[in-house]
Amino acid sequence: MACPVCGEDRFKTIREIDSTLRAVPAGLDRASHTLVRVDRCTSCGLLRSFELGEPSPRESISFDASATKVRGAGAHSVSSTDELSLLHTRPPASLLDVGCGAGQFLLRATSLGYDALGIDPDSRSVEFVTQDLNLPARKGSLEILGANERFDIITVLGVLEHIAEPVAFLREASAHLSPTGELLVGVPNSASLNRRVSSLSRHDWDMFLEPGHLYHYGPSTLQLVGEHAGLRMLRWSTSTITIRGKVPFSPSRIPAVERLVRSVTTRSKLANRSYIAGLRLLDRSKMGDTVLAVFAPGDNIAF
Ligand SMILES: [Zn+2]
Repeated sequence: MACPVCGEDRFKTIREIDSTLRAVPAGLDRASHTLVRVDRCTSCGLLRSFELGEPSPRESISFDASATKVRGAGAHSVSSTDELSLLHTRPPASLLDVGCGAGQFLLRATSLGYDALGIDPDSRSVEFVTQDLNLPARKGSLEILGANERFDIITVLGVLEHIAEPVAFLREASAHLSPTGELLVGVPNSASLNRRVSSLSRHDWDMFLEPGHLYHYGPSTLQLVGEHAGLRMLRWSTSTITIRGKVPFSPSRIPAVERLVRSVTTRSKLANRSYIAGLRLLDRSKMGDTVLAVFAPGDNIAF
């Protein structure tokens, strides 16, 4: 299978991961046992992961992981860099959130005054967003949009890593931008400090272990995939979510440590501020957990 970003045929296997957790922390979208191979494109450096052996029978864990970000522990989550702060377009403006999940981002965008619509292929997500959150959402992906539907902002957060043909996907998304529209893409950062440190552990990086994750991007491969889709990357940053008391430097997921961090940062304002300040330092060095990039239609750079 050729690299979907640069077209190169050769991938090199860099790791096989055999990871077992006794308890999977809430919000983490993986099976307790997982066997995965990670390959790197020899030309552009794009990473891909494959589940080896029996695929995980877990079609709907994704919704549960997403819903915990809206309820419970997720209610205390803070992003070290606000996704919306990277956009120049201010409310009132129309916003489409592709792959809205349980609506965490939709909820925030709406509360700030954006006219936001979510789409998601999972009917449980759409039901939750429309009925529990009372926000507009439709079931499906980009193909359900009307040919003439345009948005001032399109957000694609935590989606691109699931997409087998990312160039075509971004091209299709950008066709629904208004003339001055901005496309915001967020993906797990394969150049993050978390990934680098995690690679020292036998579990390696969480993001390799999520069965729906096909490709893994860093800032340079994200820019490249955008360029192939005819987009210019205008600006980018990284962000880390404090959800679940996740410890960015921890080489493996230890629920007891996460509970302790969550409990201390929830109870003490000073501890919480220090925790977020630490995460912001990571963003300053562009090594936070998520790459956030804003694109606009640019001169088409063909293959
Ligand atoms: Zn490549």
